[in-house]
Amino acid sequence: MLKAVYPGSFDPLTNGHVYIAKRAADIFGKCVIAVLDNSEKKSMFSKAERVDMIRSVFKNDKNISVAAYDGLLVDFMKKEKSRVIVRGLRALSDFEYEFQIAQLNRQLAPEVETFFIATEPRFSFLASHAVKDVFKWGGNISDMVPQEILERMIKLQNKD
Ligand code: ADP
Repeated sequence: MLKAVYPGSFDPLTNGHVYIAKRAADIFGKCVIAVLDNSEKKSMFSKAERVDMIRSVFKNDKNISVAAYDGLLVDFMKKEKSRVIVRGLRALSDFEYEFQIAQLNRQLAPEVETFFIATEPRFSFLASHAVKDVFKWGGNISDMVPQEILERMIKLQNKD
């Protein structure tokens, strides 16, 4: 059995992310969702909050776990003793960015391989930033994120 690592900022986790994590766990045997802070994106939830929220979504999935990490992904891969990075592809527009990261990681750790899972068409327009925008302006996001995530977003909004 292999263990795949699915890294991302997941701010917040969407149904598209859930699909990729479940596919990865199904195909490789296990999937660790690795939550990081993307320096180019300002986050809605802290890393600890995101880990907590994602854990609640996958509480019944024995082969999916969640961890936070800082620093280089290749160092996290060593710590997890995994050689499989999984990333999701929505459209050609994701490819250039994803390919660049994959090549960088290959250079840093040649023994690690990046696998891309193509999303289902119904998730191909789904992005965390879009979910945040729709939610902010009062739109319905209940088909875009798991129930646990929606509840946490409403809670955060009511706190402000
Ligand atoms: P990052 O900040 O690392 O880009 P994201 O949380 O935005 O992290 O995305 C993590 C991974 O999930 C990326 O590989 C991204 O392409 C993929 N992803 C994002 N949204 C979807 C979706 N709707 N369907 C499939 N994969 C997705």
